[in-house]
Amino acid sequence: MNKDQLWKASLGQLELEVSRGNFLTWFQTTKIKKVTDGKVLIETPTAFTYEWLSKKYRHSILTVLQNLDSTVTEVDFCIKSRSVSAYKPLRKSFRIMARKIAKSSMKKGGQVLPSPSIMTQKRTQRLALTLNPKYTFDNYVVGPSNEIAHAACRAVSGKPGEAYNPLFIYGGVGLGKTHLLQALGNEVLRLNSSARVLYVTSEKFINDFVQSIQEHKTQLFKQQYRDIDVLIVDDVQFLAGKEKTQEELFHTYNALHSQNKQIVLSSDRSPSSISTFEERLKSRLAGGMIIDIQQPDYETRLAIIREKAQKKNKSLSDDSLAFIAKNFQKNVRELEGALNKVLAHCELGNQKATLDFTKKVLESVLEKPQQRIVDSQSIIKTIGSYYTLPIDDLCGKSRKKEIVRPRQIAMYLLRKENNVSFPTIGDYFGGRDHTTAMHACDKIEKLLEHDDALLKEINFIKERLYA
Ligand code: ADP
Ligand code: MG
Repeated sequence: MNKDQLWKASLGQLELEVSRGNFLTWFQTTKIKKVTDGKVLIETPTAFTYEWLSKKYRHSILTVLQNLDSTVTEVDFCIKSRSVSAYKPLRKSFRIMARKIAKSSMKKGGQVLPSPSIMTQKRTQRLALTLNPKYTFDNYVVGPSNEIAHAACRAVSGKPGEAYNPLFIYGGVGLGKTHLLQALGNEVLRLNSSARVLYVTSEKFINDFVQSIQEHKTQLFKQQYRDIDVLIVDDVQFLAGKEKTQEELFHTYNALHSQNKQIVLSSDRSPSSISTFEERLKSRLAGGMIIDIQQPDYETRLAIIREKAQKKNKSLSDDSLAFIAKNFQKNVRELEGALNKVLAHCELGNQKATLDFTKKVLESVLEKPQQRIVDSQSIIKTIGSYYTLPIDDLCGKSRKKEIVRPRQIAMYLLRKENNVSFPTIGDYFGGRDHTTAMHACDKIEKLLEHDDALLKEINFIKERLYA
């Protein structure tokens, strides 16, 4: 096995071990630079990736390499030479790095820039209004699910245009993307009150753009979006299918980037899974830093509601807090909603938030159709009966179109609903390779982005499953 084959095989293994988001972020653009006397040197595209891989994944990578090639004794990392000049190799943990960057720019703040004119001051003030001061880094709780995103936002706020440009943060709804982006903007302003920070949702960006065309004021639009230091565009997934606006964002990006101005974007999914995103926009994004936020673990959830309750000067018993953190797992917005509901009821009834009281208040919310757990065989059976296919055919060797698609849907649902591993899915379907299962899930996911009929079909199957 040569080094490229070795790495390819290792990536295949690693992909099964880490979440998809992490895989795409950390492993996709790496390679083995050389192997000398059992020592494998892995090349990473940026200092950030270097830090992360060598800190968090060194052990897993070594184990995987050794499984494939018993002569491997050690693994080390390096940064691709092009980026060494841009980002010096960082030995310290990225958190220390982020803090340092923030500090050094705090010292510089104000001195470097000439004092702004009244006009600019007014504009800065107007732009600052796009930020909500309630979102800060101080009240953002950091845990394993969001620590990288948080560190990157901090680093960027300390040195806009220098650290990671563009910065792209993605993750499911209610996981704190908007909070982080706004905190970044607020922090830039705190460190340098004359910085021009513009936060917009992608809907606003689209509307402004469309309006500027209708009113023949595109020049003004361009000026507004280019004459700034930090541009933050939230929820760019809504730009999917809006080609003209994407093109405009692309030009805005180029204009800002060429002046070392910072761009920060967020989305509910990774750039590569926004299927109708222009290729050149995707490739620009890939040149920056792409980071995902995941669902918070129990400790982080507990810390978040503790922090939120404290901010409101309200106290809840420890077991009530634990109850809420345990029962609201998917997103922070719902978690916060549950807390607020309990607090409001306490206030209304002039009650203490005991565990019993908390349970009673949240009873109705928790009783909402909770997803029943279904076993994997029922998923396969349901698909078979939905498409009137014998299970043997569904799990068999046939490559007929009318069997392949249902089979892919079955694989997709096993993965999505029951989180079955790809190798196991392969086993369910006549001992197919795990890559076949992976391919099937990817395929259905891609199709679902624009195929409404398929979406309906799958929803219908799910209804049957959980009925
Ligand atoms: P998103 O933009 O990802 O949909 P938001 O940023 O709007 O999510 O977050 C939803 C709510 O949860 C907000 O009120 C936000 O303050 C809160 N929140 C999310 N993550 C955290 C966190 N880590 N610490 C504190 N509050 C959080
Ligand atoms: Mg948001």
